[in-house]
Amino acid sequence: MLPPFYYTEFLTWCFMINDVEKIKRFKLMPSPVPDSCWYSNLRTVLPKGIWDIIRKEAYAQANGKCMICGSKVNRLEAHENWVYDEKNCVQKLESILALCHSCHAVIHIGRTQLIDQEEMAIKHFCKVNGCSYSDYIKALALANEKHRRLNEVSEWKLDVSIIAHLLEDKKD
Ligand SMILES: [Zn+2]
Repeated sequence: MLPPFYYTEFLTWCFMINDVEKIKRFKLMPSPVPDSCWYSNLRTVLPKGIWDIIRKEAYAQANGKCMICGSKVNRLEAHENWVYDEKNCVQKLESILALCHSCHAVIHIGRTQLIDQEEMAIKHFCKVNGCSYSDYIKALALANEKHRRLNEVSEWKLDVSIIAHLLEDKKD
């Protein structure tokens, strides 16, 4: 039989692994962007008019419903969904999502905390994921850890191939 100390450590470790796996399956998560990455705000670097095309395409696909939580809202917000290949230092634009304000606030939780709207975001996070406040705290810790890792990369290579066709058209 294992000594009590190691047994407790072992159980704690098992619970943590379970939590991380559960949290990774949540459909709504805070999504950190590296501090150095000014491309994370695509609309400011695209030729005029292109962002409007991209945004409106996402709204048309969404058909009045948030693409994450499914709630029907009058006003959708366009979110640049970036994924990070940490091994190859590639930041890739995966999709443009049309979201309700609350889902968008959870994704950009750092900004939401700064403007004092975290309480609203926590409620929405727990409702959409069907989870508890302590799950939110763990998800936040995971997001902060990811943010720290992303900041360790000095330069990200940019992959915006999903909108390359729009940029090509503009050149002609
Ligand atoms: Zn939503």
